[in-house]
Parts: sequence; structure tokens; C-alpha cells
Amino acid sequence: MNAPLPEVITQHLIDPEICIRCNTCEETCPVDAITHDSRNYVVDADKCNLCMACVPPCPTGSIDNWRTMLRVEAYSPAEQLTWDELPSEKALGLAVSEAGDAGTGADEGAEGVSPSAPVGADLVPGSQVPPWSAAHPYVNLYAHRNPVTATVAGNYRVTELGTDSDTHHIVLDFGATPFPVLEGQSLGILPPGTDANGRAHHARQYSIASPRDGERPGYNNVSLTVKRVLADHQGQPVRGVASNYLCDLKKGDTVQVIGPFGASFLMPNHAGSNLLMICTGTGSAPMRAMTERRRRRRAAGEGEGGRLMLFFGARTQQELPYFGPLTKLPHDFIDIEFAFSRVPGQPRRYVQDAMRERGSELAWLLKDEATHVYVCGLKGMEAGVLEALRDVSATHGIDWAGLHARMKTEGRLHFETY
Ligand code: NAP
Repeated sequence: MNAPLPEVITQHLIDPEICIRCNTCEETCPVDAITHDSRNYVVDADKCNLCMACVPPCPTGSIDNWRTMLRVEAYSPAEQLTWDELPSEKALGLAVSEAGDAGTGADEGAEGVSPSAPVGADLVPGSQVPPWSAAHPYVNLYAHRNPVTATVAGNYRVTELGTDSDTHHIVLDFGATPFPVLEGQSLGILPPGTDANGRAHHARQYSIASPRDGERPGYNNVSLTVKRVLADHQGQPVRGVASNYLCDLKKGDTVQVIGPFGASFLMPNHAGSNLLMICTGTGSAPMRAMTERRRRRRAAGEGEGGRLMLFFGARTQQELPYFGPLTKLPHDFIDIEFAFSRVPGQPRRYVQDAMRERGSELAWLLKDEATHVYVCGLKGMEAGVLEALRDVSATHGIDWAGLHARMKTEGRLHFETY
């Protein structure tokens, strides 16, 4: 009598060398298979059903790792938490095809799943693909094992002195080292030193705030928008490792950088394409990059046309990054609506409130198939923004459910929230 063949599974793993610990995968996973400690994010093979919901939202691609394993030899979460790098593929104790024929257990549900197929699309609110006219991005050129050194070319505060929000515009120059980026992409900063356990700090992700041709046109540099973190989301005092390091940098200092990251939160480049941008606080970084790209193109007489509309939320005008420069942009170039939440004597106003107030203009944009929507900033704004889009649509006779689904598949609705 033949002994039963051992079960073979596709084990989902996260590359600790590329992961920037943004928590997106853990938040997305519908079966709570992903957990983390202060060191690593890991996947529990006993819970993971290979639904792929976590794969498209991952900004770095560190989530997209798979090993064919005997179930009895699957890496446990405890083991994964100790890793500094992924183990290489192991030889199985039997031929894969033979074991696959056994077809038993949880892996059956994964049959036919291509690890890079954009399934689970209904679980994420935005697109997993870029606009059809996006330029092709370079991603993951540099990782923890081969970071690139950038030199600080400038570091300026972009919120008013005397406010709680100490936000900096930081320019990093790559010299002769290639670091090609597109508007909407991000990079990772490796802070120097070690954590409480003596391990090197993991990378922190920042959106790039400058256009593809450089913060200074024609130079190999990028800019970031960084808010000094002195409290956590609950208001408890905490000193952000990377943000304080970055905000304290002086001109001429050097920084270790990885990336670039991001292949879908990219801007359209075709004539007549509209940009509807909705952001809070430092989530304005990619909006600045896209706006500046369009501004330069227009100034050179090469503009795409199309409309630009920006909803930008901050606590007060004094705490809104780049307030002065934004107000100098011509009204026939960009329609800007600010939303301030903590102005003494005034009711709290969020971006979604401003969107409802400007419902007619918003509806006009939503009805135009050339409109691309970008949302960046606090995680909490996501639901409110979606509700505002739904309500404005309902008021103006737009079928939001249908439009939402279409915009997702057409790469016209993008979220980057933390
Ligand atoms: P913040 O000052 O804490 O908040 C900005 C504004 O958003 C405030 O007016 C705030 O109002 C409001 N707000 C709070 N909850 C909201 C909700 N549910 N819906 C709509 N508005 C809401 O912002 P920040 O500290 O700059 O943080 C920005 C976020 O962007 C961070 O989570 C950051 O990680 C993320 N981000 C940053 C980058 C980057 O490159 N630096 C890139 C992408 C994303 P109240 O506080 O008064 O309620």
C-alpha cells in the first residue's frame, strides 16, 4: 500500500530586506494572516489563503515572495521574525509534480493562482494599475544591501515657526548615481544607528515631492516633505527615528537611500487628462510633484491641457506645507480648496467637507473620462473621501458604484495613505 504523499504548499513570505514596515499588508489581509514585531512583518502559512489582497497595495513589492514547501516544513511566524533576509528556495523531499498530484489541504484553493495576478481587487479602494499614459517607472534599483548615498542639497522648514507642525522640504542630490523617479513614486531612507535591540533601523518610506526632471530642473536630485514626529497617532510622546534625523540634516550631510518604489500611483501624460488631487498634511508631497510637472510643461508651451483641482487639508493655514507658494499658482492653472480643521473660533473642516461644497465642479470632473483621482495622507481620510465622492455623484446623477469600479480598472483612482 502506498503511503499518502506529504502536502505541498505555496508559502507566502515577506522580504525583510525590502519591507519598509508600513503596515499596509497587515491592514489589508482579510484573514489576519500577517503580523509583525519591532523587527519584521511575517505571514502565517496556517492562515494565509493566498487571496493576494495584500500584494497590490504593497509599495515596495517585498510582499511578492513565494516558496514551494512541504507543509510540515513551512517557516513558522516565530522563525520569520528572526530573519534578516529571505532563505533561498529549498529542494523538496519529493518531486513537486508528484506531490502536487496529491492535491490535498488548503493549497487546493490556490490552484491556478498566479502570484502576480491582481486578484483581491475588490478589497482595495483604488487602482492597482497606472493610468494608460503613465511613463514606465523604475522600481527597487537599490535595497538594504546596496543603498545609494545622497547628499543633502537643502533643508527648509515649510510650515510657520511657532506651530506644532515642524515640516521640512529636504532636497537630496544623487550626483552621478542614477536614481530615476516619476511623480507619485516614493523612496526609503535608512536612518543611521540601531534600534533598542541593537539591530539596524529599518527603512522609512517618503513620497517624492519633486517632478521627474529634478527638484532643480535638469539636476539629479529629488525633494521630500517630512514632518518631525514627536507624538504617535494617540498623542503620546514619541521621537520619530527617521523624521527627526531628516529634519535635523544640514546641507552637505549624506543619507542612505533605497528605492525607488511604486508602479501605479503615477500621473497620466495624455492631452486633456485632468488631475483631481486630495491630500492632508505631508500627503501633499506627490501632489506637489505632479503639479510642478504640469506647471513646468505649461510654462514651456508643452502642456497637456486638462484641469487640475486640489483639495488640501491641514490643521491651520500656518501648518499647511507650502502654503505661500501654492497661493501664487494661477487660478486658470489649478483650482485649490483648502480645508482647515483647527482654526480657533471656526468649525472643523476636512477635505471631504470641502469636496461636498464644491460638488458641481467635482461632478464635472468625475463625468469626464479623462479625470484621474489621487488621495494621499492620513489613513482615516480614505473612508471620508470615498463617501464624499459617492454623495457628490448621487447628487449629480452619476452612478458611483459603476464609476468607482471603472476608475479602479482604468488606473484612474489612487490611494496612498498611512
Ligand atoms: P495632520 O497634520 O495630522 O493632519 C492633516 C489634516 O488632516 C488635519 O487637518 C487633520 O485634522 C485632518 N484629518 C484628520 N483625520 C481626518 C480624516 N479622517 N479625514 C480627513 N481629514 C482628517 O497630518 P500629517 O501629520 O501631516 O500626516 C499626514 C499623513 O500623510 C501621515 O499619516 C503620513 O504618514 C502620510 N503620508 C506622508 C507622506 C510623506 O511623504 N511625508 C507620503 C504619504 C503619506 P485634525 O487632526 O484636526 O482632526
